[in-house]
Amino acid sequence: MKKARLADGQVVLAHQYNKEAHAGELLCADPGCTAHMVFRKESLTHGASAVRSAAFVSKAVSDHVANCTAHEDFAIMARQKKSIEQGLKEGKTIVLNLNMNLTDTFNNVARDLVCVASTLEKGNYVTASAKSVEDILDYMKTIEEKGGQPGLDKTVVNYKGKTMPVKDFVIDTKDKYRDLLNKLYTKVDKAGPESDLADFPRLINFKATQNTKKSEKGAIRGTPMTFVKDRGNRIVLLQKADVPAEFEKTLRGENVHVIAIPKLNYGEAKAVLGRLRAQADQVLYLNMHWKVVGAHQFTPVETPEPAVKPKPEPGQQTMFGL
Ligand SMILES: [Zn+2]
Repeated sequence: MKKARLADGQVVLAHQYNKEAHAGELLCADPGCTAHMVFRKESLTHGASAVRSAAFVSKAVSDHVANCTAHEDFAIMARQKKSIEQGLKEGKTIVLNLNMNLTDTFNNVARDLVCVASTLEKGNYVTASAKSVEDILDYMKTIEEKGGQPGLDKTVVNYKGKTMPVKDFVIDTKDKYRDLLNKLYTKVDKAGPESDLADFPRLINFKATQNTKKSEKGAIRGTPMTFVKDRGNRIVLLQKADVPAEFEKTLRGENVHVIAIPKLNYGEAKAVLGRLRAQADQVLYLNMHWKVVGAHQFTPVETPEPAVKPKPEPGQQTMFGL
């Protein structure tokens, strides 16, 4: 596991762990789980040819509560990956069920809810259940390895009965951010002021800005993006991770994969859209909020990006280079 909970409730990532600074008991990152964890530092494996990254480990899977969102149940994962592999061979659609709590209001019972993709023909798909961002990354890796691009093209993500192709679910390019922003904008005229503008959950790579890294408190901001609009207008999209106090320190200065529901504040979006329509030659700022309610929603990006990124072939998805 890449995360653990300290006695004071703070969550610490494995590469942040420091025995002196984080003295005391280590518990499973799931706040509803009481499993004890121990730190295993980075080490060389396979005859010193590979590095096994630092992690937190528990003695036994049975130490965790049955619906723990943090531990890796290798037997279940292996079984689900086998069924994905079989499904790919048979040309079936792969449905990745997001059985994850992504909002404050999602109750605990829903953790066990298995969503069924209602729009798909029965027998034409296989499903796998994901309770954390690690699970999704793991499944995507399997699909890419076993089925390549055609496999990924046949993969959809299901959240509460609604599905989205995995290529739209993963926001890993500026164009995809632009598409998401445009999609949220189309909701402004229809929505009422009482609700934020939200969309299907997405998987993003959230990198804290230099300012966020430097400061000890304040907003946790990710890489901003500038979009050129009509008549000399520009929108600077500011990304903000809305996190509870126990993750503020954890995510400050980090490079993480996050699964969260993207949100624009209604009043703010309406004002920006109004100014875009009415005036020219302005720079407008807009906050995109990514709400994080649990540690299962984020995981550190493990492999450092190469200095020079190989250019993907036209039409080829990068999927964070998994
Ligand atoms: Zn646990």
